[in-house]
Parts: sequence; structure tokens; C-alpha cells
Amino acid sequence: MKKISLIILLLSINTGFAQNTDLKNLHSKGEYNKAIELARAMLKSTPDDFETQLILLKIYNSRGDYQSAGLLVREMKSTDEKFLTESLKTNYGSGNIKEAKRIYDHLIKNSNNETLKNELLKFGLIAGLDPLYNDWKIHETESIVFHFQPSIAQEKIKHLVTSRQKAFDNINNFFNATLPKKIDFFVWDTEESYNSSLKTNLGFTVAQFCVSHNRINQSPGHEIAHNISFWKNPQLKKARFINEGIGVCFDGQENNRLEAAGKVYRKNSVNIKEIWTSQTKIEENILYPIAGTFVDYLIQYDKEKFLRLAEDQTFESAQQIYAGNLNELINNFIKTLEQPK
Ligand SMILES: [Zn+2]
Repeated sequence: MKKISLIILLLSINTGFAQNTDLKNLHSKGEYNKAIELARAMLKSTPDDFETQLILLKIYNSRGDYQSAGLLVREMKSTDEKFLTESLKTNYGSGNIKEAKRIYDHLIKNSNNETLKNELLKFGLIAGLDPLYNDWKIHETESIVFHFQPSIAQEKIKHLVTSRQKAFDNINNFFNATLPKKIDFFVWDTEESYNSSLKTNLGFTVAQFCVSHNRINQSPGHEIAHNISFWKNPQLKKARFINEGIGVCFDGQENNRLEAAGKVYRKNSVNIKEIWTSQTKIEENILYPIAGTFVDYLIQYDKEKFLRLAEDQTFESAQQIYAGNLNELINNFIKTLEQPK
């Protein structure tokens, strides 16, 4: 009897171990649906298994499913630093900024894990939890929390607040997406791209957390469009060509996009399928005008089909959505670019 139970025990430890490895593999490969299924099955037999819960929490956070993440956070209640880091993300992503800031300050002060602290410091700089932002001016509207660098004049702030909220309304009138929190919209008092505090170029958006960093002279809608279109369906794939096309198409600038794109195309005759599918870096001043005009063209062709593409932006998804018409659509688009005005 003893022998049998020992064997059973060993077997179950072994399967538990194998399942844990499977779960880690699925998670690292980005196979989130399968990983969630496996983790939930594992938690049925061992509901309090911390490692499994933690992986599940990480997946919920990386998919932007802050609702499920929040439920799990309340169940787990741990002082483990990895857990606290995920809990910080869940709280921030759900718009509980005060709680996120509390956890952030606690970890920065008390953690001895330098790697974790470095990652947190980077996150804090992007998310606005870093003390650098203590004296920034905050303005809140219906959909946006603005953070202005202190040197920006009041008149300018007034104009930015009104025009960006208006851009939000226009863009979401089209996409009709639900964001988990207001956009934290940082405005730096600079026209230069490189930002030495963030050590990267402005502007940019981290849509998963509804955060944008902007130069003072950016278009009203570009970064806002990135946030809104992402939340149309946070769990599906984005492609740079379509994603930047959306940013340009909804930037709120009144200029002749087709003419600009035509000029660029006649100098650099890019292959649309190639720039859509390849990961190679193509210069922004070539990609952006062409991508923006292409998105505009797809919306004119069929708005409903485009909205589906905005969710899953891959070329393969476009082949399905536009059925047999994609090649012809691309060829006709190229013809409009080739005709000199
Ligand atoms: Zn962009």
C-alpha cells in the first residue's frame, strides 16, 4: 500500500513538473490561449500553486486582460517581489494609478534585486511613476490625463487639452473601442526627437498601458490613434505598416496625403507586400506617408472590412478579409501613387 502511494506521489510530482515546463514553454512562445487553458486546468487540482498563478497573472497582464488579472491579484495576496511587480502592472493598466505608485515606491525602496529594480525604473519613467514627474502639471479630461512639462505655457496647455480631447472623440467615433483607463498623455517641451531622460525618440505610445509621450509640436491624433486602435482588440496581432498607417491617417492634420505619398513613392518605389510583411526597418519618411494613404484608401474601399483589419493587421489576415481582391486592391493603390499630379 505504502509503495503504491509513493509511486502515485512520485508520478503526480513528475506530471506536475512536466506540466509546469509545458506552461513555461507555452508562455515564452506567446501561445497564450493554450497557456491559459493549461494553467487553469492545473489550478483546478492545486488552486494555490504560486508559480502557476504567477504565470497566469503575467499572461493576463501581457494580453491587457486587467479584469482577470485583478481577480487573480486579489486571490494571491503575496509579498513576493515578482508578484508585486505584476500587481503593479495590473493596477496601472486598470487605472488604479495610486496603488501602482504605492507598490512602485515600496519596491524601489526595499528590493535588493537590482535587475528587477532596473526594469521598474524604466517602467516608472514611461508610466509617470518616477519622481521626475513630481512637478509636472496635470490636467484631466473625459478620456485623457495630461502631464505637461512645467515650462509649457498656460495658453499652449489650454490649446493642447482641447485639441487632443477632440481628436480622441473623432478617432473613437470611428473605432468605437473600449480602453481600460484614460490615456496618460505626456507632453515634453521640446521639438527635438531624441529625449535624453527617456533615452529614446519622441513621440511614442505604449498602447498596452494607454501611455503616450509627445513632442510639443506633434500632430493632435497620431499617438491617440495608436492607443484607440490597439484596444479595438488587444489580443490580436499588429503590423507596423498598418499600425503606423492608422497613426498617420488619423493624425488630424489637414494636408494632401495622396500627393505627399505619390511624391515619396515615385522616388522610392517600395513593394507593399514586402513592407507589410518584413520586419526590416524602412525609413519613417518613406513608410509613414505611404502607409497613411494606404489606410485611407482601404477605409474608402470598405470601412467594415478595414475595422476587421485594424484588429488583426497581418498580411495573412488581410488575405482572408479581402478574399481574392487583395492583390488587385494593392495594384490599384500603386496606380494612384504612380500618376504624377
Ligand atoms: Zn506612430
